[in-house]
Amino acid sequence: MPLPHRHLTSALVRREGDLFLFDCGEGTQVALKKLNLRWKKISAIFISHTHADHVTGLPGMLMLSSQVDRTDPLYLIGPPRLKEYYEVNRRSLEMYVNYEIIVHEISNPSEPQVVFKGDGYQVRSFPLNHSRVCVGYTLEEELRPGIFHPEKARELGVPMGPFWAQLQAGEAVTVAGRTVTSDAVLGPPRSGVKFSYVTDTAPLASIAGEVKDSDLLLCEGMFTRDLEAGAREKKHLTSTQAAEIATGAGGVASLGLFHYSPRCNEKELKRLLTEAREVFPNAFLARDGQIIDLPNHD
Ligand SMILES: [Zn+2]
Ligand SMILES: [Zn+2]
Repeated sequence: MPLPHRHLTSALVRREGDLFLFDCGEGTQVALKKLNLRWKKISAIFISHTHADHVTGLPGMLMLSSQVDRTDPLYLIGPPRLKEYYEVNRRSLEMYVNYEIIVHEISNPSEPQVVFKGDGYQVRSFPLNHSRVCVGYTLEEELRPGIFHPEKARELGVPMGPFWAQLQAGEAVTVAGRTVTSDAVLGPPRSGVKFSYVTDTAPLASIAGEVKDSDLLLCEGMFTRDLEAGAREKKHLTSTQAAEIATGAGGVASLGLFHYSPRCNEKELKRLLTEAREVFPNAFLARDGQIIDLPNHD
């Protein structure tokens, strides 16, 4: 349920100029308008499941994206019934859309899989346990080459110039009949940034392995600990259970809680956070419009 200062679920990820949206609850357009971004050119929208609080913002978003010229298609990715939802809306609203929308339904959502691949990163989906078929996502960058050491290149007789660029790209070069490989001048490969998105699920052991080593895990923390029985029945997580996932996964740098129960007032949100921090100290309450920077690992 949207509240005056709390919109429904959606997270925008920007990576090197590409924009990705995870879920699109009612009011997502309004929230995006407040950001000073060219958000109408979102490359892909990943939907966790087709409950209203995660998809009712979609028709407006798709129509508004027609206000800018785009040649690239927009990918709409999610579990079964997403296509039906999209097509019914498109037909009944006689939606004007001036670009290509490619809907990819994950036909076997119970299997973890790569659902989107770009230059240097990929998005995986993995199963969650909810009252409707529901998936979580990770956006993970590939390993990047290690840091380039120019002094080593010079020592090995490779002059500054195009050869350095080749070495930095991981290629070997031949100078004056001698071959120098990139590993002689590069440090160890650096891991890429990983973002994980988990919402609307009962606890499920397999989630931890998927979100391992996340720089940021956005995870629903809908209820306080005392409401655990009700949470389990509705197939949602308490903030304690979200923190247990982060701890159990290993390597998670920070945990952003979201998808709060509409009954949670500020005082109860504080309690959600306190309870989560008892299990995973680096937890915080994610807020509408909050911008989180995930720097490269160097
Ligand atoms: Zn749901
Ligand atoms: Zn929900």
